[in-house]
Amino acid sequence: MLIDSHCHLDHEAFAGEIEAAIGRAREAGVGLLLTICTSIARFPQVLAVAERYPDVWCTVGVHPHDAEAEAGVTVDELVRLSRHPKVVGIGECGLDFFYNNSPQDIQIAVFRTHVAAARESGLPLVVHTRDADATTASILTEEQQVGPFTGVLHCFSSGAALAETAVGLGFRISFSGILTFRKSEELRRIARSLPAESLLVETDAPYLAPVPVRGKRNEPAYVTHTLKVLAECRSADPDALRATTGANFLKLFAKARTD
Ligand SMILES: [Zn+2]
Ligand SMILES: [Zn+2]
Repeated sequence: MLIDSHCHLDHEAFAGEIEAAIGRAREAGVGLLLTICTSIARFPQVLAVAERYPDVWCTVGVHPHDAEAEAGVTVDELVRLSRHPKVVGIGECGLDFFYNNSPQDIQIAVFRTHVAAARESGLPLVVHTRDADATTASILTEEQQVGPFTGVLHCFSSGAALAETAVGLGFRISFSGILTFRKSEELRRIARSLPAESLLVETDAPYLAPVPVRGKRNEPAYVTHTLKVLAECRSADPDALRATTGANFLKLFAKARTD
């Protein structure tokens, strides 16, 4: 099954068009979509989309951009919200030291709150990390010693060392449309080197549309382009990779029942 492991269907770019975008995704063979929460304030809208469609699931969490605005988020609140049957992961959360929309110390504290919620709920963590490889690696490694949790580095655009550390900790690595960009040679090299069991694909729609639709508003149906490039760079059969990435997703996000 082809799965878009990370999209933002509540985004204003899909206003009045969520149903149509989901329909095009289904036509393209996408069997499941994970729509991602970026702030507790937005959670009701995110959950509403997941409740409306049987093939859409969601997460709960605070994006590093919103960490300052929602610095008071607690483990208990995240765990309580995650008990809803359509919530299958904690995040997206993490560190964005490229934009630094929130102070770094607050980003780190809120990230650790999410790790604790992932541990307590048993749900996987959806991690956003940009220009923060070393700090992300050390937090994930330290926290793993406190107690086990799993997750995914979404929209992977970091270096090989972070990918290796994350995979060593049992994390999956999710590739977005960035993998298809001409200048992403290093990223394709990393994608080639990772074990097949660690791979997921996503759109991060409405952002980052893959080649050949780069520059347009992205949508879940376009995950097919990223899957195709991932298959090419690994010299893998696209149908086999589709099955592998789908199985990897369902193993990680086991609460997303498709039967
Ligand atoms: Zn993100
Ligand atoms: Zn996202």
